[in-house]
Amino acid sequence: SAASAVPAAPAAPSGGAPPAGPATLEARDITAWFGSHQVLDRVSLTMPASGITALIGPSGCGKSTFLRILNRMHELVPSAALAGEVLLDGDDIYDPQRKLTDARRAIGMVFQKPNPFPAMSIRENVVAGLRLTGTRLGRSAKEELVEECLVRGGLWNEVKDRLDSPGGGLSGGQQQRLCIARSLAIKPRVLLMDEPCSALDPTSTRVIEETMKDLARQVTIVIVTHNMQQAARVSDTCAFFLASQGTPGVIVEHGDTEAMFSSPRDQRTSDYVNGRF
Ligand code: ADP
Ligand code: MG
Repeated sequence: SAASAVPAAPAAPSGGAPPAGPATLEARDITAWFGSHQVLDRVSLTMPASGITALIGPSGCGKSTFLRILNRMHELVPSAALAGEVLLDGDDIYDPQRKLTDARRAIGMVFQKPNPFPAMSIRENVVAGLRLTGTRLGRSAKEELVEECLVRGGLWNEVKDRLDSPGGGLSGGQQQRLCIARSLAIKPRVLLMDEPCSALDPTSTRVIEETMKDLARQVTIVIVTHNMQQAARVSDTCAFFLASQGTPGVIVEHGDTEAMFSSPRDQRTSDYVNGRF
């Protein structure tokens, strides 16, 4: 495979943070099944470092499946199967020599429905992931990390005086930003977001979009969105997925977002971005 030509990445120091900084994520010829149901067919896409890539397309065309393949969550479904490669700065995350936790650590995920631990304090929510990665921090380092992640998540000013109150007491939009802060605490190089605003009101949506744009300088962002305007507002590159009439999902067109919205090359893209289906 292409990945075998690349030297293995040095192991992260025991208990320490993995290498920081945005990484390019490249999917090559991804084909995916649930049992005998094929849902993606040879999907290839490069998601450039320190930018925002939007995945758009009608419901059921495999966007969420593709996103879960990018951080090895697809394999959690017992019937799931997969062919192809996912390269993180050239290293195959599915290389059997690599630990599963390395991929999950480097590639964070934020879901549609905000899912903070509701009874846990805001502070403890932010650092909850450190337990899973085995990272141990002293009290002051932990406090610094909590502040840094909440600042980057665009929530610090709203919660700095109530870090001990429960995460479940925040508004929906604040909860989603808390989830972003929580994923940032393990220093991901890529952040995957599956319709992160579709459970939120327009004002909260705009706040999250601004947060994403700030974040994109430090972490590669891949966002699935139903919302064309949102894709146009936030993304640098865009990929249009389609699964027509029972066939598996493919990428019909991808490239620079502005170009794709102003002059789509494929008639089906044009129809979709103009709301014709
Ligand atoms: P999208 O996010 O674009 O709406 P999904 O990736 O969720 O699409 O779904 C793609 C296809 O895979 C759909 O036909 C869906 O029914 C199927 N699918 C998704 N998750 C599962 C699962 N856990 N088991 C079986 N089929 C699934
Ligand atoms: Mg989906």
